[in-house]
Amino acid sequence: MIFTVAIDGPAAAGKGTISRAVAARFGFAHLDTGLLYRAVGARVRAGEEPGAAARDLRPEDLARPDLRTLEAGTAASRVAALPEVRAALVDFQRRFARTPGGAVLDGRDIGTVICPAAEVKLYVTASAETRAHRRWLETGGDPAEVLAQVRERDARDMGRADAPLRPAADAVLIDTTDLSIEAAIARALDEIAARLPSR
Ligand code: C5P
Repeated sequence: MIFTVAIDGPAAAGKGTISRAVAARFGFAHLDTGLLYRAVGARVRAGEEPGAAARDLRPEDLARPDLRTLEAGTAASRVAALPEVRAALVDFQRRFARTPGGAVLDGRDIGTVICPAAEVKLYVTASAETRAHRRWLETGGDPAEVLAQVRERDARDMGRADAPLRPAADAVLIDTTDLSIEAAIARALDEIAARLPSR
């Protein structure tokens, strides 16, 4: 069975948690596509040219322990605005989406650019304040600075010319501002279960 679930949305909206729950519930392969951009960003911070780093991305790049920091997120969103970086990562993501048995990919442009024919498209969002608070609980630091970084990343991801962050026309919207993570997961699982071919 080829069955693709595309989950897009801004940083810290709950995409990752929902994607992992979807993968566990249905036995789908899961790709956190943000990790690809974070890994390219890390290599660029080490002095490489962005396009070359993206074309040469290796599994060990994705295993780096420092990819989850706020700085790595900022570096990722900078390289993610470069068309040659995005182009180098398309084929890998599309192949992954066709993993036999089903796949869930979370990111910014999965439902709009990478897999516009995905069987299920979810757009998971929440207010910037809520998302910044969640990030701050993980990272600590100055709350105002975390909020500023969330807003800056939103603006860059939504404002870029190539594959900007936006919901696909047929995406199901899940706003987690006032939703518990359990309720958000339940919504996602229901949407998918309703579209799965009966096995
Ligand atoms: O989801 P995560 O916060 O790890 O993503 C880091 C950055 O990578 C995002 O801010 C975005 O700029 C970029 N990204 C993207 N397209 C994706 C996934 C992530 O542009 N599909």
